Amino acid sequence: MIMSHLNGFVQEASGQPMGHRERAVDCPCEESSLVKSPHNSAHMERIQHYQEELRRKREDESRGRLDIDPNASLRLKKLSQNPKVGIDNPTFEEKEKDAKEEPQHHVAELEELQQALKWARCCLTDAQSQQDVELVVQLLANADFKNAYSLYTAVSQQKSRVSPNSPLTVQAEDLCQEVQKILQSSQQKEGLELRALLTNPHVQALMQAHDSVAAQEMAEENVTQYLGETVKLVRLEKARDTPLGATVRNDMESVVVSRVVKGGAAESSGLLSEGDEILEINGISIRGKHINEVHDLLQQMHGTLTFLLIPSTQIKPAPHRQTVMHMRAYFDYNPSDDPFLPCRELGLSFQKGDILHVISQEDPSWWQAYRDGDEDNQPLAGLVPGKSFQQQRETMRKSITDRSREHQGKLWYAKKGKKQRKKSTSNVSKSTDYDDILTYEEMSLYHQPASRKRPIALIGPTNSGHDELRRRLLSIDPEKFAVAVPHTTRNSRIHERNGREYHFVSRAAFETDVASGKFIEFGEYEKNLYGTSTDSVRHVVNSGRICLLCLHTRSLQVLRSSNLKPFVIFVAPPSQERLRTLLASEGKTPKPEELKTVIEKAREMEQNFGHFFDATIVNVDPDQAFHELLRLINKLDTEPQWVPTSWLC
Ligand code: 5GP
Repeated sequence: MIMSHLNGFVQEASGQPMGHRERAVDCPCEESSLVKSPHNSAHMERIQHYQEELRRKREDESRGRLDIDPNASLRLKKLSQNPKVGIDNPTFEEKEKDAKEEPQHHVAELEELQQALKWARCCLTDAQSQQDVELVVQLLANADFKNAYSLYTAVSQQKSRVSPNSPLTVQAEDLCQEVQKILQSSQQKEGLELRALLTNPHVQALMQAHDSVAAQEMAEENVTQYLGETVKLVRLEKARDTPLGATVRNDMESVVVSRVVKGGAAESSGLLSEGDEILEINGISIRGKHINEVHDLLQQMHGTLTFLLIPSTQIKPAPHRQTVMHMRAYFDYNPSDDPFLPCRELGLSFQKGDILHVISQEDPSWWQAYRDGDEDNQPLAGLVPGKSFQQQRETMRKSITDRSREHQGKLWYAKKGKKQRKKSTSNVSKSTDYDDILTYEEMSLYHQPASRKRPIALIGPTNSGHDELRRRLLSIDPEKFAVAVPHTTRNSRIHERNGREYHFVSRAAFETDVASGKFIEFGEYEKNLYGTSTDSVRHVVNSGRICLLCLHTRSLQVLRSSNLKPFVIFVAPPSQERLRTLLASEGKTPKPEELKTVIEKAREMEQNFGHFFDATIVNVDPDQAFHELLRLINKLDTEPQWVPTSWLC
């Protein structure tokens, strides 16, 4: 099939040698109606004469141009003899000659085309066509056009050359210096230009970079045969304090690279890949060893490590730029408690609310991540459970707990002699809904604009002091801080104005707004409804002031989905004894059970809603707590904060 295609192509082109550079501009006239012109033979003669002259001129020009002797440098000569240089292996002299002649050819091609067009113009009879052709002739004569054409041809020829798939030399820098030396005596324009290029600091730095990359690639390229398998020899540097950052697994007798972790020597060298079998490390045979032995061995090794590997046969996915995802964790994680973690040493512990920079999700079950703030002290990324993996096992854990609860419940009912429970309390079916299980939320940095300050939501149990903190803020700067005007169904009092103290509305209107989700929170007091609407908060935000809210935890979900971008601060009570003293200073005398309840309530809030808190203030001392609150609020103006990415969409 291929042959028949090739034959067909050759036949079509028969009589016209292929690849003949000068043929393209000459041949159109053969089919052209212009051939039939009465001036045909005279013109043909003129063209042939002109072509002859051009050829002669080109030959004269190329003669004596090679005044740089590549043999002047042994290294240059060696490079020119390298079989990898080019696919058809032209000699250095041929390449040099080609390179010099190419621009001349392009100029000649243009001149010929120009000449042919001029001739065509003479044959044309109508003025418009003559004018059109003249325009093209002028374009071809334009110096900028000629340069652009030469450049285009040079680039397309470079592109069509097959580049070698391994480095040709690791001495590009030395070669450059040698070429500079050779060029010292050259007064030719090209020589001067090349010397200027090679002495340019950027080009020199490029050569230096080339050599170090090439040296590394050549180290890897050391491919040979071992036990009948193709093996590769890899050398990498492991500093005493830098981990290798790779995990291995036993596969029968073999020790196989199972994971390459970002930030370690293995990853930065790019020489070890997942699936590579390790045969030897620094001459020590690895086959047959348990992975623990390999771990101990490698822990003691540093400096240059030479690995003999059977490269993985897996097709490596094309390297793609990893996008870092920033995730807020909604659960605590302790690697030493996790029996599923594939490599305990690499596990990364974190707490609910921590921001994780996830740099690799290649393994969907085990992401590679850094904890926010740890990146500089912790070069190696750690393993954390992937989102879906965590959701699945949480679902399983929940359903097991639910089932055992159900079982205990049944036993209890059986003991009581009841036949069946009316309604199952199990929510096994509900627990299979992954979306119910909070694992991670993607976050982005957000810097509040000066004209739209984020509302501050203070959360805490009664008597934790959050309400007092809000009052204090309002009193120190009423221009800066404000509260949202609430809605109520009660009648207005004499001094009250609608929209100032309250928005006075009917019960029906209030209930309609509640039903359509317009309230962040609401409650009933002495048969009247009271509540804060998102619109009221938005009104404060739009006025440029900071809206202060004291909320119950159950209001957090609505507030977070309101597009108001709240900053949530949890005000936690101090120890029971300290709380008693603080309340006593306010003239309150709570019973010990009441104090316990405050602390217990705070613990519950943290347990169930801690993942929504942006900051926590422990109210040990009201003045300190107030200053900490001010510091946090002012920080929103100076530093961007992590917010759910969904808020910014
Ligand atoms: P008053 O009718 O005396 O102005 O307020 C009666 C009660 O309603 C007070 O305890 C006050 O704290 C409460 N209240 C005022 N505004 C709101 C609100 O927006 N939401 C809730 N849940 N209660 C409010």
